[in-house]
Amino acid sequence: MKTSNPAAAPRTLLLTPGPLTTSDATRAAMERDWGSRDAAFVALSDRLRRRLAAIAGGAGTHEAVLLAGSGTAAVEAALGSLIPRDGRTLLLVNGAYGRRMAEILRRLGRDHVVREWPEDEAVDPGELDAILADDPTVGDVALVHCETTSGLLNPLEAVASVVRRHGRRLLLDAMSSFGALRIDAARLGLVAVMASSNKCLEGVPGIGFVVADSAHLATCAGQASSLSLDLFDQAAAFRADGQWRFTPPVQVAAALDAALDQLDAEGGVAARGARYRRLHARLVEGMAALGFETYLTPALQAPIIVTFRDPGPPFSFERFHAALQADGIVIYPGKLTRAPSFRIGCIGALDEADIERALAAIARTL
Ligand SMILES: *Cc1c(COP(=O)(O)O)cnc(C)c1O
Repeated sequence: MKTSNPAAAPRTLLLTPGPLTTSDATRAAMERDWGSRDAAFVALSDRLRRRLAAIAGGAGTHEAVLLAGSGTAAVEAALGSLIPRDGRTLLLVNGAYGRRMAEILRRLGRDHVVREWPEDEAVDPGELDAILADDPTVGDVALVHCETTSGLLNPLEAVASVVRRHGRRLLLDAMSSFGALRIDAARLGLVAVMASSNKCLEGVPGIGFVVADSAHLATCAGQASSLSLDLFDQAAAFRADGQWRFTPPVQVAAALDAALDQLDAEGGVAARGARYRRLHARLVEGMAALGFETYLTPALQAPIIVTFRDPGPPFSFERFHAALQADGIVIYPGKLTRAPSFRIGCIGALDEADIERALAAIARTL
């Protein structure tokens, strides 16, 4: 911001898949120092673990294991710690985050098969059923809940029910849905739900976490080939003395705790999801009025982030992005392998007025 009085400048709106716009209260929670062995910090970590397990629908059956790192660290920790070293994993892929899980397993040297759908199609539970019937050696299945690449919502309930029926384990990358869309880890029989502090929970970046089935986790000693990403060892440390094994991101944890207070005050996951749906509906409607088309059919779209087709010349994404940035509004390039596109998120500490501000700025740039 070039202004001499930053307080007078409109705040920056991050209409991206994360990091996201955070509230003043969340950022204010970072203003103090904590010793990692302070009783108050141990209590805070314990509270975070219980709150995150409850949000995942796993209170009593699952436990949240927190790590310093971005969301990908949590995904890597889950795949590396919870899947047997000699296991075979089926990856259901329809975007970049599904492909990233394949890359993680490749680097870990773990056997896996990939079933890939086009980026504008949901994962098909019927095909999954056939693959599992055909291949009894697949022990684990991994799915991305909301594929942030396109903004598509995969059919979690149906996939989980097929995986359960075949007696296999399901790991869910819920990075961009956790806190906004209902996830019922116990009822769906999920072995792991992976997410991070800085998406729909509206915290700041720095914590990745896995809400893991406690009974399964108890069988995973010595399975991870990474020291710092070993969920079994970290869960054991939390249980033994409440400690993170390595330097905890103390301010990030405090901010996440404050952000969870705000989630509760808002009315929990259902209320947050409802706010995002309102912002999403207004965004899509306003963009349509300006001539922009969405990439996905509405039935597949999650109220998280929207991919718009690049309308082609004279439109230039670079100029569009730069003009909005000058107005304090940050949008994201597309991530699709085929169609030229860009993305606008509707998650974070935002309200209707912020979407109106963004739409007005977009109209001006055109
Ligand atoms: C954001 C995201 C991740 C992980 O992202 P990081 O950049 O490592 O925080 C993983 N999966 C999905 C679906 C995501 O949206």
